[in-house]
Amino acid sequence: MLIIDGKKTATSIRQEIQCQVAVLAQRHGRAPGLAVVLVGDNPASHVYVRNKEAACREVGFVSRVFRLPDDIPQERLETIIGELNNDPAMDGILLQLPLPQGLDSQKCLDLIRPDKDVDGFHPVNMGRLVLGLPCLRSCTPAGIMTLLQRYNIGVAGKKAVIIGRSNIVGKPLGLMLLQENATVSICHSKTKDLGAETRRADLLVAAVGIPRLVTADMVKPGAVVIDVGINRTDVGLVGDCDFDGLRAVASAMTPVPGGVGPMTIAQLLVNTVEAYVRHMAL
Ligand code: NAD
Repeated sequence: MLIIDGKKTATSIRQEIQCQVAVLAQRHGRAPGLAVVLVGDNPASHVYVRNKEAACREVGFVSRVFRLPDDIPQERLETIIGELNNDPAMDGILLQLPLPQGLDSQKCLDLIRPDKDVDGFHPVNMGRLVLGLPCLRSCTPAGIMTLLQRYNIGVAGKKAVIIGRSNIVGKPLGLMLLQENATVSICHSKTKDLGAETRRADLLVAAVGIPRLVTADMVKPGAVVIDVGINRTDVGLVGDCDFDGLRAVASAMTPVPGGVGPMTIAQLLVNTVEAYVRHMAL
């Protein structure tokens, strides 16, 4: 079984971006800028933001992180987003989710200017994705598409089954695969016979958050499996797939950790450069 190495692929992408940024910054007199807004003290969010900050520094972006208290009023948070919308040095704005209780995340996401929405969560970007128009695309699914491309795994005409219908992974990934001419099914918690669906998949994507939900008997021999799940267990980080069990069945698979995770951050950098290039052209 081929191991689809997201860590290695993400490292290459980061190196490519670093070179690109050096050229772009010289040409335009400034580097791409990313603002990260972090509210409250969710430990996992702090780790994610630190990783994003380090990645930005490595490739030469200007990054600004706003660490805000969890009792910040909604209006103050909205003002900060408004200021970042008007800040010409910031090409991308990322609001780290989840927000503490009492804050309206959808309202905040809706306020981010679509051309700065490097997470691709704004309804304008999601809507453009539905229509097959150019847009800033959600990082995890776009990272998966890049990973498939870089491993020359074609999806046109293939049967793709996604487990999970979230707005940040399952749904946008379904649209991206459809755009690339895959035949797509999206399964979820109410799907009747999950195994019957997954056994039909040439490309199976698990984005659920249940450790080892996908076992060998649920996978068609020769299928490509993408494991998006990140589950913290007593034995460390595991995905949604029984990696060892699937080895004998799948033709290729992403590991956890070192698969989709690193691609998500790489895609954030790609999206920020995309936003910057667009701003420079205006
Ligand atoms: P979510 O909780 O928003 O969605 C989970 C989905 O799984 C839902 O659509 C639900 O219907 C479905 N589901 C739940 N139980 C099911 C079952 N028994 N059978 C079939 N479907 C079921 O989750 P999310 O934000 O999409 O994240 C999913 C997983 O991916 C989590 O483990 C998360 O940590 C991980 N994740 C990883 C990355 C990354 O960069 N690698 C990014 C985002 C999310």
